[in-house]
Amino acid sequence: MPLQFRRSWSDEEVEGFRDTRARFVESEMLPQDEEARRRGHVGHALWGRAGELGFLCVDIPEAWGGGGGDFRHEAAIHEETARRALSGISIGVHYLLSHGTEDQKRRYLPRLARGELVGAIAMTELGAGSDLQGIRTRAERSGDHYVINGSKTFISNGFLAGLVLVVCKTDPTERALGTSILIVETKNCSGFRVGRVLDKIGLKAQDTSELFFNEVRVPVENLLGGTEGQGFFQLMADLPYERLLIGVSARAAMEGAYQATLDYVRGREAFGRPIAEFQNTKFKLAEVATQIMVGRAFIDRCIEELLAGTLDTATASMAKLWCSETQGRVIDDLLQLFGGYGYMNEFMIARMYTDARIQRIYGGTNEIMKEVISRAL
Ligand SMILES: Cc1cc2nc3c(=O)[nH]c(=O)nc-3n(C[C@H](O)[C@H](O)[C@H](O)COP(=O)(O)OP(=O)(O)OC[C@H]3O[C@@H](n4cnc5c(N)ncnc54)[C@H](O)[C@@H]3O)c2cc1C
Repeated sequence: MPLQFRRSWSDEEVEGFRDTRARFVESEMLPQDEEARRRGHVGHALWGRAGELGFLCVDIPEAWGGGGGDFRHEAAIHEETARRALSGISIGVHYLLSHGTEDQKRRYLPRLARGELVGAIAMTELGAGSDLQGIRTRAERSGDHYVINGSKTFISNGFLAGLVLVVCKTDPTERALGTSILIVETKNCSGFRVGRVLDKIGLKAQDTSELFFNEVRVPVENLLGGTEGQGFFQLMADLPYERLLIGVSARAAMEGAYQATLDYVRGREAFGRPIAEFQNTKFKLAEVATQIMVGRAFIDRCIEELLAGTLDTATASMAKLWCSETQGRVIDDLLQLFGGYGYMNEFMIARMYTDARIQRIYGGTNEIMKEVISRAL
């Protein structure tokens, strides 16, 4: 079974962590998934439970309440959920660890790790997605506060979030240099409003919302990193991490879909024999297996580079581009082998098909990935 070879970056401890995480996913996330997809979010209780079991902020040092692990643990978590088409819990708080002041880390990271606070990062606006420097949400200094006005859209965890990192313009006359990130605690926050949970074609269990800020006042201590004008650079610095995680989950989704398809075609019969025996089925599976293996080699190498601190943005963008494009094609091919059942939401392959589409859009669209890669050539 060549698809089961060992991950070059993993070891016994990481695989032990993976096993406990997989048990949590099987016993607590999967049974609730249908309800979460219907509701449009997983609810606070599941976040709390994940925090209690130590599955949030796993790559954040123990001193800040995290798991004390590294990217390998985060990757294992993403793999175990993506291979089962589970999307509810996605953690976007790395910016706080990378760029927060000591005080900001002390105040927020332990609560995020416990699942008391759900985190979100709010960059995108109606008029500014790929062109992030064009955002309009304004944060104006007023004494020892900033006053935020504007709105954001498509924000993952927006509905459940207790803590939102809001990308704002502190100087509207500048583009990158005028951008800062403000930390907003949403509970009892005057002037903050969450819009409806948006109705998406996939990722049904993950809430995605609009956020509105009307004269929202936050203390100056909530400026991420403590220096104005750093927001754009803070976002750029974490791109390799963000984009590699998309590549990791794309690869894991392909593997999960491949395994589910193998099981299905061996059990389903047509014309008196398992559909696994048709040459078309065998050839499709052979093609898919080959693409997964190629993806594994590249992603494993990228993970090693990230762990060594040498993964550059262009290479991480290649990982996001290649894996998400391949994921789309592979899952489309595999769904075909399920016939009509592949079109039914109760089959995991159907949910994987709609979930896969966003991978080419968020985290920077794949066209932006090509821009980034071509600039590095
Ligand atoms: C489910 C979901 C979750 C999301 N989560 C978050 C989140 O948590 N936080 C957040 O801030 N945002 C989030 N987003 C937003 C996401 O990052 C943006 O949708 C994405 O960056 C694209 O921006 P846009 O939608 O405005 O598209 P646009 O920027 O308007 O792009 C439209 C098209 O034009 C193309 N295009 C744009 N510029 C160029 C160029 N220079 N060259 C070639 N083609 C170009 C794009 O590739 C795309 O095909 C989420 C979106 C979705 C759907």
